[in-house]
Amino acid sequence: MNLDLQGKVAIVTGGSKGIGLGIVQMLLAEGACVVNVDRSPADACGLDGSDPALQTNYLFVHGDLTDVSVCETAVVRTLETFGKIDILVNNAGVNDGAGLDAGLAAFVQSLQRNLIHYYAMAHYAAEHLRRSRGCIVNIGSKVCETGQGGTSGYAASKGGINGLTREWAVELAPAGVRVNAVLPAETWTPLYERCLAAMPDPQAARAAIEKLIPLGRRFTTIEELASMVVFLASARSSHTTGQIIYVDGGYTHLDRKCTVDGGVSEFGAATT
Ligand code: NAP
Repeated sequence: MNLDLQGKVAIVTGGSKGIGLGIVQMLLAEGACVVNVDRSPADACGLDGSDPALQTNYLFVHGDLTDVSVCETAVVRTLETFGKIDILVNNAGVNDGAGLDAGLAAFVQSLQRNLIHYYAMAHYAAEHLRRSRGCIVNIGSKVCETGQGGTSGYAASKGGINGLTREWAVELAPAGVRVNAVLPAETWTPLYERCLAAMPDPQAARAAIEKLIPLGRRFTTIEELASMVVFLASARSSHTTGQIIYVDGGYTHLDRKCTVDGGVSEFGAATT
């Protein structure tokens, strides 16, 4: 399937690692020009400047998105370099464990890490997306629906992202701009690896989580996540807007009988 992304200009936040890096690489492979906004440069696959072929269609904007002036700078530099914006992927975030006891300052800081820059990027890019009849894809999390405990700031941010996805889909529909969200649950990324590394037995923790994922008893891959994002960013999804799509191997919604350890399959036999 030709996604017709040649010559499209995309901004991806947090594109140096994990899911964001996968999205950047897939967009580049589809012929798009990509602007990666991250606090550290990508050291993967020629994005470090070693691939001359990427010098005309890849731009790195360095900065921490909790400083919203970085969002404005990213939009300005994209326009200076590529002249337009067709696609915005809001992706950067971190499950920072600001729970009920963490206090107001930590809660607000978590919103700055996970929610405020989504609005800022969309705010600064909106006029240009209207002009190009472009699209926005927001990366959320299943935590907004399931809760996790001990992470009020992250849960509120991800709930806010779902709300903003629908809100922006309505506000921007008259201009032909589509807005959708993709929600991971358990995707194997550097962030996830770091979380498990802090546990007494990371391998056992990983195996315990995998057992709960109905489809294949494995983590979602970065490529599986990126494929959905890139499809939603393309004209192949031209009548899809306001959708909140879980790419999670059935983890969030399927019958608990499938997800509990030793659960039953549709035929009643014990699963392995
Ligand atoms: P990751 O492996 O940590 O990659 C995120 C990238 O974004 C990193 O390069 C990170 O830089 C950068 N970044 C984060 N906050 C930033 C900021 N304030 N300013 C600039 N750059 C920033 O994370 P990931 O697992 O791919 O997660 C990506 C998105 O998916 C997040 O929104 C996350 O909430 C969501 N998600 C992931 C999972 C999962 O299973 N992995 C599950 C649910 C939701 P540093 O390395 O310096 O932090």
